[in-house]
Amino acid sequence: MEHMTKPNVDGLLEKIKKYEPEADLDLVRLAFDFANDAHQGQKRKSGEPYIVHPLATAELLAEMNVPISIIIAGLLHDVPEDTPVTIEDIRKNFGDDISSMVAGITKLGKIKYRGIDRYVENLRKMFVAMASDIRVILIKFADRINNLSTLSALPPAKQIRIAQESLEIYAPIANRLGINKMRAKLEDLSFKHSMPKEYEWVTGLVDRAIKVKKGYVEKVKTLLEAELKRNEINFEAIDGRVKHKYSLYRKLLKHERDIIQIHDIIALRIIVPKLSDCYAVLGIIHQTWKPLKGRIKDYISQPKPNGYQSLHTTVFCEGGEIVEFQIRTNVMHEEAERGIAAHWQYDEAGKVASPEVRKQMKWVKDLAKQHLDTKSGPEFLESLETLKIDVFQDRIFVFTPKGDVIDLPEGATPVDFAYAIHSQIGNTCVGARVNDHIVSLETRLFSGDCCEIIVDKDRTSPNPDWLSFIKTSTARSHIRSGAKSRLTRWIKNFGEERESKKERAEQRATHKKNR
Ligand code: MN
Repeated sequence: MEHMTKPNVDGLLEKIKKYEPEADLDLVRLAFDFANDAHQGQKRKSGEPYIVHPLATAELLAEMNVPISIIIAGLLHDVPEDTPVTIEDIRKNFGDDISSMVAGITKLGKIKYRGIDRYVENLRKMFVAMASDIRVILIKFADRINNLSTLSALPPAKQIRIAQESLEIYAPIANRLGINKMRAKLEDLSFKHSMPKEYEWVTGLVDRAIKVKKGYVEKVKTLLEAELKRNEINFEAIDGRVKHKYSLYRKLLKHERDIIQIHDIIALRIIVPKLSDCYAVLGIIHQTWKPLKGRIKDYISQPKPNGYQSLHTTVFCEGGEIVEFQIRTNVMHEEAERGIAAHWQYDEAGKVASPEVRKQMKWVKDLAKQHLDTKSGPEFLESLETLKIDVFQDRIFVFTPKGDVIDLPEGATPVDFAYAIHSQIGNTCVGARVNDHIVSLETRLFSGDCCEIIVDKDRTSPNPDWLSFIKTSTARSHIRSGAKSRLTRWIKNFGEERESKKERAEQRATHKKNR
């Protein structure tokens, strides 16, 4: 093995220099040497020197263009757990900020439970870590992506466990935080190991699509370029983007595995300088090819809940083929790829969170608070179910009559909507108007609906029957506590009633006696 080139930090430094030319690269080099010394003599299961793993983790982070403090924490992330070097040593050498991130990842490390307990414990730790410092989760994602790409060295049962956990927990959280680039990697690597047969099938479909469509996509690209130039519309790049495998798989399952119904395996992505250019490009596309009805999506005026912005349209293109186009500015593109990770670039301290990061932090904290108090028995399992829906389900947008946007899980009802606005509106709701039609409270809402809640001020508590159809944990906990307070009121009334009966009896007795 002596002839092998030793792992070195140069590639990482190159990556950092590209997006942060002013970065303190000496400090990164120092962290690499520090980690390299600490892991000296250790090997990965694959037989490689251990340092290869933290180095790969740091490189994945550099691809997200994050500040170097996060990259350094990535280089050091396994040091306290696997070597004699302590957190205190890291603090002395690299300061409080970096050592606290490393401590956060170390805490995430060890989970010894099995089955459902393991799942819950993992989520609990993850949310606690995220709520205290959201940068920790980015390092954990990078760590997990590298572990997934070297999974073959582990026993099969462990491979499947790690892959499923990544698919069920890590990827949905990455999605919720808008970190698409990492989400796609987490999903595709996990997909490969947890469902090898399905993965092979989808890979075949993608390879074939690329082979068959490559020339066609090039032709459309050339035509569109010419059309845009002729109309003097600015654009920076047009590329064919290939849908990532797991998301194609999920879409195939929705369409009875019929590939014919899926038009965006390869979509054309147009990157433009300014927001107004997006709509200009859309205009040219529709002028050139006829759009399919109902397939124009304006995620710029109505971004997805995770912040995603773009214009999508599907058209009957050259030769009648159906092609999807995605149009966005460079800034939107960066945000679509990197989500909250795109928002650190602007504040060097790293910890001074932008409004976007703060919004996500609030979501994480609310979630941690709602679900992760110790509960037991069926109540606990039930809360786990809603948790899965809250975090992992696709989201919809529903409007209030004033035009405010409420973000809900798919399948949500007017009751969920009411509670999302205010608990008092939830507790007193008796009906709803959706797009100007009176509907029952269990009606399913869809993205883009406008919903108005009809309340009855005299109503004192929610209807426990709602529990059978609501979808959000907010609604669930309010209905439960509403039902509970009604119960205590009844018990109290009952008690008071008994008291007064007793009093009356006593009064009668006294009366009799005095007679
Ligand atoms: Mn690691």
